[in-house]
Formats: sequence, C-alpha cells, structure tokens
Amino acid sequence: MTDSEFYRSLLRAYIDSANDGIFVLCDEMKFHVANDLFQSWLGISEDRLTEHGFRRPITDYIGNEKSQQRFVEHFNFALTGQPSRFECLLRAPGTDARWIEIGLSKVNLEAGEMFIGVARDITEKKENESLIWQQANYDFLTGLANRHLFLDRLEQEIKKAHHARLSLALMVIDLDRFKEVNDTFGHDMGDSLLKEAALRLDRCVREADIVARLGGDEFAVVLGSLSETECLEQISQDILQVLAEPFHLRDQVVHLSSSIGITFYPQDASSVEDMLKEADQAMYAAKQQGRNRYCYYSPAMQEAMQQRMRLVNDLRAAIITPDDAFFLLYQPAIDLTSGVIHKAEALIRWRHPTRGIVNPAEFIPVAEDTEMILQIGDWVFRQALRQVTRWRLLYHPEFQISVNISPVQIRHASHSCDWVDYLQQLDLPGQSIMMEITEGLLLDANHTVAAKLLAFHEAGMQVAIDDFGTGYSSFSYLKKFNIDTIKIDQSFVSGLTANSGDMALCEAMIAMAHKLGIKVIAEGVETPMQRDLLIAAGCDYGQGYLFSKPIPAEQWDSYFTAHCESLQ
Ligand code: C2E
Ligand code: CA
Ligand code: CA
Repeated sequence: MTDSEFYRSLLRAYIDSANDGIFVLCDEMKFHVANDLFQSWLGISEDRLTEHGFRRPITDYIGNEKSQQRFVEHFNFALTGQPSRFECLLRAPGTDARWIEIGLSKVNLEAGEMFIGVARDITEKKENESLIWQQANYDFLTGLANRHLFLDRLEQEIKKAHHARLSLALMVIDLDRFKEVNDTFGHDMGDSLLKEAALRLDRCVREADIVARLGGDEFAVVLGSLSETECLEQISQDILQVLAEPFHLRDQVVHLSSSIGITFYPQDASSVEDMLKEADQAMYAAKQQGRNRYCYYSPAMQEAMQQRMRLVNDLRAAIITPDDAFFLLYQPAIDLTSGVIHKAEALIRWRHPTRGIVNPAEFIPVAEDTEMILQIGDWVFRQALRQVTRWRLLYHPEFQISVNISPVQIRHASHSCDWVDYLQQLDLPGQSIMMEITEGLLLDANHTVAAKLLAFHEAGMQVAIDDFGTGYSSFSYLKKFNIDTIKIDQSFVSGLTANSGDMALCEAMIAMAHKLGIKVIAEGVETPMQRDLLIAAGCDYGQGYLFSKPIPAEQWDSYFTAHCESLQ
C-alpha cells in the first residue's frame, strides 16, 4: 500500500465513523462522496450515487420547494468562498423525512472546486419547536386557532383589507347557557360538546375564513374580503342553525343555542382591540335580546355597555357595605278568606349614592350576570330572617316572610348551603321563610338544584313558584319538587273580569293547585273587583297595591294596626 492509499483509506474510515453526515459535491451540486451516515439518510449507497460516472445531484433529495430554494441560495453563497450554514428538509424514497442543519464550504482541489458539507440531524429539535408553536397557537381541545394566533391573523386580515380597500367582518360566537351543561353533565361532556361545536362551526365558513376559539365557550370567525353582506347573513343563519341542532353526547341529548355579535372593518372599527370589543358588545346585545340570534354592532351599544359597566362598578362598591347600600321593603299577602296578614314578601331596593333609589329590575340582572347576587341574596336572606323573628313576636306566631331567590343562587353549587344553619342559630322554624323561585329552574333542574330544594324542604322552609303561568313548568314538576305555593303572575290578574279568558285560567290554576295541596297567592291585585273574583275562584292569598304597596319595615306597625282595625 502506498502512502497515499494508506492516508486515503484512513481518511475514509475517519469520515465514515463521524457522528455527522458528511458529503462532497462538485460545482454542479452532484455527489462525489457521502459518508456512511449520510448514505443511510439518503437510503442509497455511495456507489449508486455515483454509478457509471452518473452522479446524482443532492437537490434530488431535498424535501420541499422551500428547502430546495434555500439550498440553492446557500450553495451560491458558498460559491463565493464563504462558508454557509442553513437548515433544510431531506427526503429520500423509503426513509423518513428528516431535518438537517448543513455547514457548507468550498475547497479548491486539484480536481477543481469542491464543496464539503457537514450535516447534523435536527429533526427532534424541529419537531419540538413545531410542537411548541402548535401549543402556543392552537387550541388543544378543538384544534382551532387559539386567541393568540387569532389576534395575529386578524391583524394581518385588517392590513390586507386595508390595501385591497375591502371590508372584513368579525363574528364573536358564544354558546348560550353552556355553563349549565358543564355544571349538569360534567366537564368531560362539556369538552365533547365544545369539540363538536367547533367542527360544526368550521363547516359553516368558507375555506379562507379564520375560525378560532377565544376561550371557554367563546368562538370567533373572521370573514375576509367581504364584498356583500348577503353571504354574511347566510353564514350567521347557518351558524345559529347548526349550533341549535341537538348534541348527542354519550347517552345524553343536549340542546343549546348561540348568540353572535358582528362588527365590520373599516365601517365600525379600525383596530384589532376595537373590533373585538365591539363584536363582544354586539354579542352581549344578542344575548340581552333573548339569545339564539345575531346582532350587528351599533354605537348605542357602546353607550349601554358603559352604563352597565358603571352599574357593575357601583354594585361592587355597594356589596362591601350592604347594610348601607340596600334595604328591604315588605309587601303583605292577605289571607283572602279571613283578611288576616301573616305573610309578606321582601323586595330589595338599592340606595345609590348619586342616583337615588334603584329598582331591582335594573340591578338584579346585572348582579346575576356577575354573580354578585350570591352576596346580595345572602344579605337579603339574613335580613329577612331577623325581620321575621320580630314579626312572629309582634304580629302573628306563624308569620312568614318570602324572599326572592335567583336561579343563579340555587344553581351555584356551594351557595346557600349554610342557610339552614343560620335558621337554626336563630332558633326559627323553617316555616318562617318561603323561597320564591321561578318555573324555569325546575324545568332543567340538575342534581345541585334538586338537592338544595330537598334540603330546604327538609328544614321545613317553604318553596313558592313566582310569576306562575309565564314559564313552561307543568303541574307534575310542582309535585315532584314538593312545591308549597304558587304565585299567579300579575299578567293574569290585571286582565281579570268575570267570564274572561284570564278568569278561566286563574280558576284552572287554583283548582289544580288545590288538588295537589298547593296554596295560591295572586300577585298584583289592584282593584276590589279583581279581589272579589279571586275570592270567588277560591284563591288563598292576595298581594298587590289594593292592600298595600311594598313598604319599609318601620311603616309596618302603623299599617298593620290600621289593617287590623279595618277588619273589626
Ligand atoms: P316579583 O317577585 O314578581 O315581585 C313583585 C313585583 O311587583 C314587585 O316589584 C312589586 O313591587 C310589584 N307589585 C306588587 N304589587 C303590585 C301591584 O298591585 N301592581 C303592580 N303593577 N306591581 C305590583 P319590585 O319590587 O320592583 O321587584 C321586581 C322584581 O325584582 C321582583 O319581581 C323580583 O323578581 C325581583 N326582586 C325583588 N327583590 C329581590 C331580591 O331580594 N332578590 C332577587 N333575586 N330578586 C328580587
Ligand atoms: Ca316574588
Ligand atoms: Ca312575581
């Protein structure tokens, strides 16, 4: 063996034992040498790479177009004599695609210019990077773009629309009452529902539109390059429709609806933040208008939203010192046969620092949305218990105060659990309190609701259905949940005349309730005629302006005394 042969084989052994892929190319990017590792990556031997003087170009093995382009660019750069380093995708028949990082440098040999490449496998690093990117930009549950990617894409779409002088629309879609599904059926079912909702949503939009999950049960769609609003209306309708179709989750069928808020660039807003804010406001307006609908943003919404924000802030301040901020009025319910008073309903008022007295119709819905109703409701309950303790001594040993309980309070798992304890602390029998709940609560009563109603019942507290007749509840629910009293809604009482339809309805409700051993209170009794007709129909109690408006506790003494005198 000559010296040169010896060094040659030594060199060969050296490069074949390297941990990197090593190759040598001629100036046409064709193979001269590929070490063992590089051959294994290409899935082809060096002999075959350079067979019969036909040398294959490395570009045959470079993965996608982008990598090809990059390779050529860097090769040209190396041609200038400077070393270059870059990443590209290697794809050979029969082997897995792999990411490699190549260092390429030119050497001048006797045989001419050659290019030595040293390549390292970075597939794992690339996969990790892409996984991290995936996690940072896509929603894990639904596979849709997440909020982060969505904001990015919306920004890009705005720029595109700006250049093309086109409009784009942003839709924010919120599932109605999804929280209840989660609470009732558990998070697993909630997750399955969200996945299914995402699929349905994706099917409603065009290929190029962006669908994202903003968080929770809130989704967004960006519809770019809008030339006509017609297709937007169609898409909105489609979305409402597909989300209203029943969801089959394991052995359960769940019905939902959705609310959509829509805003336009550039007509309504010109930035990502403003578009999102406005679409949110429009979505909120859709909910306010009864859900299962879409709503376009309008500047009036902005005003309403600001008013609501002020209300929320003021309410937050109020619940810190509820004794100063709130007070209760009490309206009597009269026993229609004897005229005796041993029932009253507690009705809350808010003493607002600048606006004066605010009625519950205005602030209770906001308190419910923000769950501040939990604290307010607690305060009402405790206040009413203290009052009834006094009135049992003063007016009637069986005096009962009824309090309005929001569905939010009952559905909330941990709230109101200690009410029974509080009752016992005050050494009050359960009958001193009646809870006024609404029909809707029974209709979709979950485990929490049923358990709480049972606990109240076991503690002797009574339960009344408020505004009876306006919802969907059936008499079978009344029986199932041990309801003690129904309160016929004002709307039936106000139209009460002899032989009227309302008269027939009142008579029917009273007869059916009595058959089930349920007492009846008629609300909103304003005239002696209404009272007399109710008495004729066998109604147990009457409540309304005819007897008394709701009055502060301090005025009860004089009212009660006058009332008793009038009976004699
Ligand atoms: P509601 O429970 O149906 O209460 C009856 C409402 O009708 C009261 O309005 C009462 O003032 C009014 N009213 C009583 N008699 C008559 C009458 O003869 N004619 C007419 N036109 N109205 C009469 P208010 O006090 O403004 O309360 C409104 C609603 O706010 C209540 O309706 C109840 O749903 C809610 N609310 C009141 N207090 C509370 C509370 O402490 N907690 C909760 N969650 N809701 C409350
Ligand atoms: Ca009530
Ligand atoms: Ca009512």
